Amino acid sequence: MTTLESPAERLMLVDGNDVEALDGNRFSRTSPAHDVVVASYPQARAADVDRAVGAARRAFDEGPWPRMSGVERARVLLRVAELVRRDAEELARIETLESGKPITQAHGEVEATAELWEYAATLARHAYGDAHSALGADVLGLVLHEPVGVVAMITPWNFPLLIVSQKLPFALAVGCTAAIKPSELTSGTTVHLGGLLREAGLPPGAANVVTGAGEAGAALVSHPGVDMVSFTGSTAVGRRIAAVAGEQLKRTELELGGKNPQIICADADLDAAIDGAVYGALFNQGECCNAGSRLLVEATVAGEVAAQITERAARIRVGDPLDPATRVGAIASDEQLRTIETLVASGTSDGARLLAGGERLPMPAGRFYAPTVFTEVAPQMAIAQQEIFGPVVSVLTFDDLDEAVALANGTPFGLSAGIWTRDVDKALRASRAIRAGTIWVNSWLEGYPELPFGGVGASGVGRELGRQAIPAFTETKTVQIHSGWRAPWTGAEVAS
Ligand code: NAD
Repeated sequence: MTTLESPAERLMLVDGNDVEALDGNRFSRTSPAHDVVVASYPQARAADVDRAVGAARRAFDEGPWPRMSGVERARVLLRVAELVRRDAEELARIETLESGKPITQAHGEVEATAELWEYAATLARHAYGDAHSALGADVLGLVLHEPVGVVAMITPWNFPLLIVSQKLPFALAVGCTAAIKPSELTSGTTVHLGGLLREAGLPPGAANVVTGAGEAGAALVSHPGVDMVSFTGSTAVGRRIAAVAGEQLKRTELELGGKNPQIICADADLDAAIDGAVYGALFNQGECCNAGSRLLVEATVAGEVAAQITERAARIRVGDPLDPATRVGAIASDEQLRTIETLVASGTSDGARLLAGGERLPMPAGRFYAPTVFTEVAPQMAIAQQEIFGPVVSVLTFDDLDEAVALANGTPFGLSAGIWTRDVDKALRASRAIRAGTIWVNSWLEGYPELPFGGVGASGVGRELGRQAIPAFTETKTVQIHSGWRAPWTGAEVAS
């Protein structure tokens, strides 16, 4: 069991083996809540990435995994789900110690992960194409969906186990193989998952894990043995990856940042909406691509809503993420803390009104930030436009639904959005008019493996989850079969 007392020395997974980096270098991770080193990892460089991609390539080109039946692949994926549940305590603890998130939320992430592997197992048996029988008596057209090949997966630090599990089981389900690089801040659960894949019977090389910094991610993206890049992370890095992959004509799937609006109408169940607003802003310390960081409140109730949010946020327990009573844990890194501080300072200097928070919380160790509420926020202020990735919510007001929709659409992002109202017409109008990959009505942050997830604009390209995961990780092939007599092309002039 991972503890604060003894850091775990973890290895990478390449071709079914636990390996060090070729040059033997390692890096360590310090718990952002406790200031104690909790793990160390091999520092992968281009040569290590080459080894991992080579293993994935061989596993795809020659290995059993892409050639196995759907039911055989499904069995392995279901076994992984079982093992994730078996190791739930350990996985949740690693996640909390490396990311700073509350242990209860880490447990929720582990359970959601098991459900993703279970759902992907059902898709493994449903990856079928079409047969065209109306092309003529002598012709049969087949449309096949074949695995795209070797997929490079690069993931961020905020939901490491969940996010790799939004990609890997789906790619494996259809017969792809993978080389994965988790964030250097939170590699532990992905490495542990690698061990579970081996235990579940995944053939060597079908999934490989390299640990390291952005340099290793960049080497993965540009590696000629990679057919597709599936990336979740910041918009800035996503743009760089898209440029490199575009040059090489590699398929990309990008899940990027968000500045997600929650609209609260005066006719809503305000008690539920306020709870949803606090949850949306503070869950995972606000370090959430889906954070509801822009609150658009109908002007007639804005004062009351802001006051109640401030009052409830003040009661939220911030502190040691290992304590089951904690609701808001530590900020993941010094860099992230500085980003939060810089943007909060810009809010004050731009003229927004700070109702709560706006400062670090003094604790014996670690990085903690007070839940922060801004009102009198203008749409063009940085705190209304940029992803803060911290426990900070900006309250803007509107007078009618058209204005709310215009505000909602008023950033480059389009990941998720929500509306709280009892009026079904308003809910439907907003749902259709807002440009975003997900819309929540009278809810926030619910998610199901069956429902596609992704963004538009600066929030990304492509979708994960749902049945769409099959086309996401497959190439379409057309097979045209001619049976019986075929009109000849040569010799026809001799015959006539
Ligand atoms: P990041 O972009 O800094 O890093 C993400 C991953 O990319 C890490 O593994 C990192 O090592 C790697 N990387 C860095 N530079 C690279 C390069 N040049 N080439 C290839 N890989 C490189 O993001 P982060 O700080 O880890 O995560 C926070 C961001 O992720 C936020 O913007 C958040 O909105 C976004 N995110 C999006 C979703 C979504 O589903 N849309 C989910 C979670 C997080």
